[in-house]
Amino acid sequence: MKEKIVVHVCCAPDQAYVVKLLRDTHEIRCYFSNPNIEPEEEYEKRLADAQRVADHFGVPIVAPTYKPHLWENAIREFQHTPEGGERCRECFLLRFRQTAAFCRELGWPSFTSTLSISPHKSMAVIEQAGRTAAGEFGVTFEPFNFKKKDGFKKSVALSRGLGLYRQDYCGCRLSKRESEARSRR
Ligand code: SF4
Repeated sequence: MKEKIVVHVCCAPDQAYVVKLLRDTHEIRCYFSNPNIEPEEEYEKRLADAQRVADHFGVPIVAPTYKPHLWENAIREFQHTPEGGERCRECFLLRFRQTAAFCRELGWPSFTSTLSISPHKSMAVIEQAGRTAAGEFGVTFEPFNFKKKDGFKKSVALSRGLGLYRQDYCGCRLSKRESEARSRR
């Protein structure tokens, strides 16, 4: 019998790689927890593609109601920190808490996250946030490091093949601003 795992999905390109990688060994349920994404049209666009990936691989996907104020509340104290700092840690924690709650509701033992595929995100910070959230909800966080074995490069190639939308900023309004500033430079 395949092991059951909830996959926290940050975006469709990363989801496609992770689902393809785990589907032979795991029964997967995708969970699109991303109250960080701004504006709402961008959220809808990313969610629509995540649904396409789920349909393509034949796995279920669930998305909680979009509530961006949850993200604003979670990072308020850290909004002046740069990408990769405390605000991202709080952002991971929020999304993992939602995912861990869903995992417990489902009665499944563990969850993981597609976030670890990004070369810009620290595995240590992801793992710490994952374990904290999992501990609060009595489930386990599986610290798969999907960036290993050229995971990021492979996800780019796969997402091109599937014609998926690749965003040019992480997701929140602050990362959008930072990305625009980088382009101007
Ligand atoms: S940069 Fe990305 S991980 Fe960091 S707070 Fe914004 S959306 Fe979250």
